[in-house]
Amino acid sequence: MKKYRNFPMVPKVVFGQGSFDQLGEILLTKRKHSDAPMIFLVDDVFEGTPLIDRIPLIFNDHVIFISAEEEPKTVQVDALVHKIKNDFNDLPSGIIGIGGGTVLDLAKAISIMLTSKGHASDYQGWDLVQTPSLYHVGIPTISGTGAEVSRTTVLLGPDKKLGINSDYTTFDQVLLDPDLTRGVPKNQWFYTGMDCFIHCVESLTGTYLNAFSQSYGEKAMELCKEVYLGDLMPCEARDKLMMASWHGGMSIAYSQVGVAHAMSYGLSYVLGVKHGIGNCLVFQHLEEFYPKGVETFKQMMHKHDIKLPMGICTELSETDLDTMINVSLGMKPLWENALGKEWRNVATPEKLKSIYSKI
Ligand code: NAD
Ligand code: ZN
Repeated sequence: MKKYRNFPMVPKVVFGQGSFDQLGEILLTKRKHSDAPMIFLVDDVFEGTPLIDRIPLIFNDHVIFISAEEEPKTVQVDALVHKIKNDFNDLPSGIIGIGGGTVLDLAKAISIMLTSKGHASDYQGWDLVQTPSLYHVGIPTISGTGAEVSRTTVLLGPDKKLGINSDYTTFDQVLLDPDLTRGVPKNQWFYTGMDCFIHCVESLTGTYLNAFSQSYGEKAMELCKEVYLGDLMPCEARDKLMMASWHGGMSIAYSQVGVAHAMSYGLSYVLGVKHGIGNCLVFQHLEEFYPKGVETFKQMMHKHDIKLPMGICTELSETDLDTMINVSLGMKPLWENALGKEWRNVATPEKLKSIYSKI
C-alpha cells in the first residue's frame, strides 16, 4: 500500500497590516505563569527602532537580538538554549521569532531544543525529534523563504547543512503583518522573494508534482509575477509577496525543491553564500533545466535593475570545488524531483563543475 505523508500545518494564523499589535492578546492565553517568560528573538536590524516598543513585554519577558549576518548554526542554537536555561528558573512560556528566515529558523530550533536532550546537531534529519517543542510563534519581517509555514529549520551543523524536519518544528502560531517588511533593502527584497519564485519553478516542474503542490505553487507563481513584473502599489505588493511566500512554502511541503537549491546548498556550505542570493546566483545559469523559469527570472532582474555579483567561484581550489559538488550531489531527493530516478546520468560532477565555474 502506498504510504502518504501526514503533515502538520500551522494551526493558527493572523494576517493583516498592523496585526502585530494583536500579539499581546494572542500570547496572553499561552502564558504559563509570571516566572515563565516569553522570549522574543528579534533580528538586530530592529534594535533601537519603534518596533521594539511595540513588543508586548510583561513580567520577566526577554528580548534577544539576533544577527542575520550568518545563517543559523547548530552550535548557536545550543548556546542560546544554554543561556535561556541558565538565565531563568522556569522553562519559558514560549519563543517568538521576529525576522527573516534566519531568525524564524532559530526560533523553531530553540523551541525544539528547550524540551529535547542533547545537541541540535543530533536532530538534523527527518523525524528524529520525539518530544513536543515549546509553544513557538513566527513573525516574518521579509517575505519569500516560506520558513513561516514549513516543518523544517535549516541549520549548519559540524559536518552538514541540514534541516531538523519534524512535526514539532512547525510554528504553533504565525502572525503575518506585511507592514513589518517595509524597510527591507531592495536587493534583499529581490533575493528572498526569488527564493519563493524558485520554490515554485522547482515544485511545478518537478517529477514529485501532485495536485496539492500544484494548487499552491501556481498561486504563488501568479503572485510573484504580479509583484515582480506588475505595477502594484507598494502596500499591495507587500501583502501579495507575503502570501506568495506562504503558498510557495506550502507547495514544497508536499513535493520538493530542485537543481537551484541543491547547487545553492553547495555554495553555502563552502563559501557561506546566503540562501536567497545563492539560489539566484545558480538559477541564472539553469536554462537547460528550467528554460521558462530562467527567462522570467531574467525579466524580473532587468525590471528591478538587479546586478548579481560575479566571479564567486573563480578563485576556488579543486578541493573546494569537489566539496561543493559532493555536497550538492548529496541532496538526492532534490535531484530526483528535478530530473527523475535516472538523475545521475544528467547531473554529473562535470556538469556541476561547468555551472559552478560560471558563477
Ligand atoms: P535573513 O533572515 O537572512 O535576512 C536577510 C537580511 O534582511 C538580513 O540582513 C536581515 O537583517 C534583513 N531584514 C529582515 N527583515 C528586514 C526588515 N523588515 N527591514 C530591513 N531589513 C530586514 O533572510 P531570509 O532570506 O528571509 O532567510 C534566509 C534563511 O532562511 C537561511 O538561513 C535559509 O536556510 C532559511 N530558509 C529556511 C527555510 C525553511 O523552510 N525553514 C526555507 C528557505 C530558507
Ligand atoms: Zn529556498
